[in-house]
Amino acid sequence: LRRNAGELEFHQAVTEVLESLGRVVAKYPSYLENALIERICEPERQIIFRVPWVDDQGQVHINRGFRVQFNSALGPYKGGLRFHPSVNVGIIKFLGFEQTFKNALTGLPIGGGKGGSDFDPRGRSDGEIMRFCQSYMTELHRHLGEYTDVPAGDIGVGGREIGYLFGQYKRLTNRYEAGVLSGKGLVYGGSRARTEATGYGAVYFVERMLATKQLTFDNRRVVVSGSGNVAIYTAEKITEFGGKVVACSDSSGYVVDEGGIDLALLKEVKESRRERISEYARLKGDGARFSDTGSIWDVPCEIAMPSATQNELTGRDAKALIQNGVIAVGEGANMPSTPEAVRFFREAGVLFAPGKAANAGGVATSALEMQQNASRDSWTFEQTEQRLADIMRRIHDTCASTADEFGTPGDYVLGANIAGFVRVAEAMRALGVI
Ligand code: NDP
Repeated sequence: LRRNAGELEFHQAVTEVLESLGRVVAKYPSYLENALIERICEPERQIIFRVPWVDDQGQVHINRGFRVQFNSALGPYKGGLRFHPSVNVGIIKFLGFEQTFKNALTGLPIGGGKGGSDFDPRGRSDGEIMRFCQSYMTELHRHLGEYTDVPAGDIGVGGREIGYLFGQYKRLTNRYEAGVLSGKGLVYGGSRARTEATGYGAVYFVERMLATKQLTFDNRRVVVSGSGNVAIYTAEKITEFGGKVVACSDSSGYVVDEGGIDLALLKEVKESRRERISEYARLKGDGARFSDTGSIWDVPCEIAMPSATQNELTGRDAKALIQNGVIAVGEGANMPSTPEAVRFFREAGVLFAPGKAANAGGVATSALEMQQNASRDSWTFEQTEQRLADIMRRIHDTCASTADEFGTPGDYVLGANIAGFVRVAEAMRALGVI
């Protein structure tokens, strides 16, 4: 605690993983040798840098840039970039730590990393976003490479930002190194289905989890928090599977639409116009209402998919969901449920899919983008989505069978933490004390 003072989210993420490891070290005490667990908790490298940029009025701003290269035992560091005013080193470290285990669970050759900046993109013009991205990459480019570190998007970083970042990388290095970033546009080396992958993948995971109890999404009321990349494509796949998404949100409040969220309208408001969620209710008119007070988790539902940000679903929210009869929770975001909320869900016997397993579809498809870039190939949407669906079902089954093996059937938190840990730990052991 003293060593990482003030890094609350990082402590939270590490504590959760370490709490799961008791059973694995009891069975295989050799994991306690050579400070393996201490090494897994320490990032290989952390880069913090100044990002100066000029706004449309000619005013100079300074933001702080981060990249935490957490673990490269399984492959080049891989993980997104987050642009949000709340970003600090503790948040990037928690995300990088989680990413290491998540990437291991995909079974693909990728290590873990994460980065970003406390830059707030909200209300910034296209030109300001471009200049910020160029300045950010001007420092970061020397630490990246298709065999070294391959960032992607996260909160506040979507297709537009990846384009500007890639453009600046190409300009600085004079190399068309498509494999250095993922989440690229289709015209310059992106993968089909990458935009949809995290949301679709989370729904595939929950579908498989429901099937263990002979349940499906069909006709179920679902609440999906957020209205960004993950939330939109989570809602889209749920609708395809026959579920009804009745509410979604952003940081200004939430909308309830009893008829089911209109996906075309949601995309228009959020992806094209980049407006607030209240605009959805205004345009939809009758049947949809916006609220800027209270919690989205008070809206009754059978399945909850928190897809906005960390610690957005508290113990109080979990109680409300349980009281309203929730049967399953699938985390699309990273660590959206507080430890107390997770405990309540587990005690109440609610099916619970932790983010590091359920939202692994995004990074898995990023790894598929790297494969396509390496072979100068481009797969169809169907082919890529099929690979994604197979990977998600495999991750589900790995978590479930690991939980069985360690005597806690149905505990996906324990299953995900142990299965991820074992893969990283085995690779680290083979590579020696480094
Ligand atoms: P986006 O920026 O596209 O969307 C984020 C959404 O969450 C927005 O609706 C945003 O509202 C809301 N939100 C963000 N911060 C807060 C906050 N502090 N309080 C309330 N609402 C908030 O990001 P993504 O959809 O890409 O990411 C969402 C989550 O999924 C994150 O936890 C991310 O780490 C995780 N994730 C993303 C992956 C990806 O492929 N994109 C992969 C795996 C995980 P507003 O616009 O008002 O800020």
